[in-house]
Amino acid sequence: MTLRLFDTATRDVRDFVPAVPGEVGIYVCGATVQSEPHIGHLRTQVAFDVLVRWLRRSGLAVTLVRNVTDIDDKILAKAAAAGQRWWERAAIHEREFTAAYDAVGVLPPTYEPRATGHVVDMVELMARLVERGHAYVAAEGDVYFDVRSWPDYGSLTNQRLEDLTIAPEDLGAEEPSTAGLKRDPHDFALWKAPKDGEPPTAAWPTPFGRGRPGWHLECSAMAQRYLGDTFDIHGGGLDLRFPHHENEQAQSRAAGYGFARYWLHSAWVTQGGTKMSKSLGNGLLVREVLAKAPASALRYALTAVQYRSMLEWTPDTLAEAEATWDRFAGFVARASERVGPVDDAEVRSAALPEAFVSAMDDDLNVPAALAVVHEHLRLGNTALAAASSSGPDSAEGDTARRDTRAELVAVRAMLDALGLDPGDPHWATTGDSRYAQALGAVVQAELDARAEARAARDFATADAIRGRLAASGILVEDQPTGARWSLAAPASQGD
Ligand SMILES: [Zn+2]
Repeated sequence: MTLRLFDTATRDVRDFVPAVPGEVGIYVCGATVQSEPHIGHLRTQVAFDVLVRWLRRSGLAVTLVRNVTDIDDKILAKAAAAGQRWWERAAIHEREFTAAYDAVGVLPPTYEPRATGHVVDMVELMARLVERGHAYVAAEGDVYFDVRSWPDYGSLTNQRLEDLTIAPEDLGAEEPSTAGLKRDPHDFALWKAPKDGEPPTAAWPTPFGRGRPGWHLECSAMAQRYLGDTFDIHGGGLDLRFPHHENEQAQSRAAGYGFARYWLHSAWVTQGGTKMSKSLGNGLLVREVLAKAPASALRYALTAVQYRSMLEWTPDTLAEAEATWDRFAGFVARASERVGPVDDAEVRSAALPEAFVSAMDDDLNVPAALAVVHEHLRLGNTALAAASSSGPDSAEGDTARRDTRAELVAVRAMLDALGLDPGDPHWATTGDSRYAQALGAVVQAELDARAEARAARDFATADAIRGRLAASGILVEDQPTGARWSLAAPASQGD
């Protein structure tokens, strides 16, 4: 079976076949760095992180481009209101986005271009559109795309120009000075002349006058620079389909380029069925969420839903995610303790269970894939229990240890494909490793004291130490090579 993906443009699930065998180029719209990230922003990037990991796991060389929109109306307005330079505000929030992506294990893109670094590319594309009769100069510095000149306009979102409802912004309501300049209300700005009060640093020279880029133009220009005239997948959040992606496709194709071959859109985080937004003011900034729960729980919560399904965020979402993560992490820790750690290279190259592969190849059906992980978790826990209760030299013990190790590798490999492997050093460095180290040192000191007491035939003290450890949930097992310890299974661990 090959990977099948839902293509927004064709509105069906179809086989994914890269243009160049073995290689995939992906462009995902990144953040407009105007304020700090919330979990809706993260959901989009986690969704495409799962796609990228899956394509790589499937043996494809992926080039991922994710832009940073570091100039736009909102950045200028908010920076002015806060008494900041516009690039200062953009830099501050860009760092926050980077930190948030890193925290939840979104792999860095191959390239992360900023809009302001690609003004020359944008001007070149705009000039080409003017030359081909698909864009016009409405006033000094104001250049619009002429939607009537492009019969295919609306095809991405399956709309006819006549049927489009006109957003106030499209009508130029926010920019009364330019409202009368458009030939059609749906024409969108490729370039914008500076408005009164805007800093002169927010404008660049072009053959059509000074100004700054409209939002849509940057993605077309940067996708082409890094991925070529035609590339495989364009992604983004569902709300970007129209007008942003419709406009990107129109201007790139009108300029004579093939542009994206597949369009993928990830759904929203919702609360009470409606799209989560900052205006709800409900503590869903990434900073606020990470103060309440570990990053691993947030990653799980954002990953566990299929990317095209709405993720309904409830007061229980994080706690449930954390409990599931703990079940994964608990098994990986106990099994590694029992059969020895598995190195990351083995995890990454391990063959994956067929049912998991089929689920992922079916438009990244993560819930079905996680069901396979849970099945193997059950098998692993059963094998681990058998390994713990059988003697070190028995044949059953050998079989149980072999089974435990096989399930440990399978569980970690599947979770790794989703960015959720508890054994991945990423999750250890986000807080857990210090605890593990400290615990290891304290337990070893106790075990040394116990060994000394036993050597001195002070069995009362030795038993007291063992009892103290047991009361702390630490099991001690005497083996010919010395005492070994492990964490007792949590009481809730029934599967
Ligand atoms: Zn974009």
